[in-house]
Amino acid sequence: MQDCIFCKIINKEIPAEVVYEDGYVMAFKDLKPEAPVHLLLIPKKHIPTFFDLEEEDAEIMGRIQIAAGRVIRELGLADRGFRLISNCGRDAEQIVMHIHYHLLAGRPLKWPPG
Ligand code: 5GP
Ligand code: ZN
Repeated sequence: MQDCIFCKIINKEIPAEVVYEDGYVMAFKDLKPEAPVHLLLIPKKHIPTFFDLEEEDAEIMGRIQIAAGRVIRELGLADRGFRLISNCGRDAEQIVMHIHYHLLAGRPLKWPPG
């Protein structure tokens, strides 16, 4: 997608601090971190929202969750845990229309988030 900022990060057209990448998934640091660890995990395929997911995307979405655990383990935070959360649509204040999960860790995380 030409005008998608996350697709531009995937294509290395704009810079990002990438911490994990495989054939399906990329994880990079959020520009405005809300926690000591605040990463964005995205599918490399441009999928705007959960409403656009198709059956064939099941593997990609599963791989995002596997990547989340892997990254947290590599950061040495597995004993503390993390939060994986995705904003979808207006009420959740989704700004970037390319599915992404926020991976937050490194501090106690309040629930509910607000
Ligand atoms: P959401 O769409 O879930 O509300 O939030 C999008 C997130 O993407 C925000 O936390 C914002 O800080 C982050 N973000 C927006 N543009 C960029 C960018 O160009 N680079 C990076 N690393 N993060 C971005
Ligand atoms: Zn995109």
